[in-house]
Amino acid sequence: MLNFDYSKYGRRMVVAGGLFAALWAAAGCGPADNPDSTQPADKTRVTVVCTTTMIADLARQIAGDNAEVLGIMRPGEDPHIYEVRPRDAQTINRADLVLANGLHLEATLGEVIEHHKGKARVVYLAQDERITPLESQATKGAPDPHCWFNVQYFRVYAQRTTDALAQTDPAHAEAYRTRGRAYMDQLDALDTWVREQLATVPRDRRVMVTSHDAFHYFGKAYDIDVYAIIGISTEQQPRPRDVETLTALVKDRNVRALFIETSVSKTLNDLVRRIADQSGAKIGGTLYSDSLGDAGSPAPTYLDMLRHNTTTIVDALR
Ligand SMILES: [Zn+2]
Repeated sequence: MLNFDYSKYGRRMVVAGGLFAALWAAAGCGPADNPDSTQPADKTRVTVVCTTTMIADLARQIAGDNAEVLGIMRPGEDPHIYEVRPRDAQTINRADLVLANGLHLEATLGEVIEHHKGKARVVYLAQDERITPLESQATKGAPDPHCWFNVQYFRVYAQRTTDALAQTDPAHAEAYRTRGRAYMDQLDALDTWVREQLATVPRDRRVMVTSHDAFHYFGKAYDIDVYAIIGISTEQQPRPRDVETLTALVKDRNVRALFIETSVSKTLNDLVRRIADQSGAKIGGTLYSDSLGDAGSPAPTYLDMLRHNTTTIVDALR
């Protein structure tokens, strides 16, 4: 197991001080456009603030009506380059419990959360001894934060969310534990289903190429080789050499399809299309990687996201 120093990779640490001052100052004034955070505090229930859309969905599944769940990121937003809005500090300020991914997925927002640690319980769901972080392919030594794509790891997120809710709001602990167990059963069934689906693709065709490196946990858990144009963060610039290498690999391994992603830039997705054109492969469809879709999309929940991605991948490669 790799022992990561989780504090080492927060490269924006230096700007954090000034940023907080501005954010906290701004939090008390100006129009906040998130209707959730402008409602008067609901003192009859505990407030759970979540960073990504996957974590907000998870918290809602387990909290039910017993706790108020507020999500910071909106569907389609990229956590790696998420720019903290003034109202985020306002939202975080209301939290009794903050649920974040950790492993530096949240970048700047992570610094705002760290600042709030003394006031609320803060849980970094991916930072758990039951989760073995993979090392990023591109940034050697940095942990890969995309642990939710191993469904058994997301089960750890669910267990920890259940525990954190029960500890924060002991009066409703039994309700959280009941919902937590039911949701973890759904995750177990999903994990089995994903495995069965991937097993229908012949091993030599189990190769997927995407825009950014979000799918290594998926690849390791479900036995599919994963390649991407850029490393773990969407913030990096694609290098021409990497594009050439990938184009050669797609031809070499006779890769049937490449995939675009909903939460990354058009430039990156265009590069995927170009590699497909140059290599004769097709575009296999659109995957949800670092964000759920909105209510009308194929992936409004985590369970939907995994089902949609799996079906898309299997249909394109089989
Ligand atoms: Zn990512």
